[in-house]
Amino acid sequence: MAELPTAELEEKTAAVRGLLAQATAQHGRLVYANSLGAEAMVLTDIIWTHLPQIDVFSIDTGRLPEETYELLERLQRRYQRTLRVVYPDAAALERLVAGQGVNGFYGSIAARLECCRVRKVEPFRRAIAGFAGWITGVRRDQSAGRANGRAIEWDAEHGLHKISPLLDWSEEDVWRYIRRHRLPYNALHDRQFPSIGCSPCTRAIQPGESRRAGRWWWERAGSRECGLHPLPASTVPVRGASVTALPAPA
Ligand code: SF4
Repeated sequence: MAELPTAELEEKTAAVRGLLAQATAQHGRLVYANSLGAEAMVLTDIIWTHLPQIDVFSIDTGRLPEETYELLERLQRRYQRTLRVVYPDAAALERLVAGQGVNGFYGSIAARLECCRVRKVEPFRRAIAGFAGWITGVRRDQSAGRANGRAIEWDAEHGLHKISPLLDWSEEDVWRYIRRHRLPYNALHDRQFPSIGCSPCTRAIQPGESRRAGRWWWERAGSRECGLHPLPASTVPVRGASVTALPAPA
């Protein structure tokens, strides 16, 4: 694979900084929802190095892989910064587990979405409250639902701007930036986990599978978002729809 010329990567990096600076100037306080994925390493580096006024948080769903916690530690050591970690509401989590069991999310798409709502979406809403815009590391080529996004758009669902500075970056761009700046990254990426979420809902992908095939692998491809990003309209799952019998979690 041909290496992206340094000037081209620097140009793309400068464009990200420019977009974030412009969004801050135009809209006010921004918050970065850090997924701790590969794209997040790029954005964390740019934000913590050049735009420290931007707030950064990450959601600990309580079901993250150990490798993700190790990465969080390494990140904080490298930048000598504390990342704001947001947790699910304890009472809501207790009700969820009492109702569907600790692994109830395997039972139906509705149960899975409810788990994502309690563990991710509600903490996310709390974490972005009061900000003018939230930043995400989504890229256009990650899924059909992300293909038509815009770098800055109004997020009507959450009532603030949504800023996607890496929308037109390729996966290669992300990894070239990581290598060039010797950034830490999740050890699972070296074990065929291109996209990493909660441990019981993420598995390694096989050669030829799409990069998100390992997320909620037991569901049909169109429903594989957690509620923070919209699903393509034609694929929004019907509440209560059942799923195929499950293999044992990888
Ligand atoms: S990814 Fe899985 S464990 Fe994590 S919040 Fe969603 S359903 Fe629950």
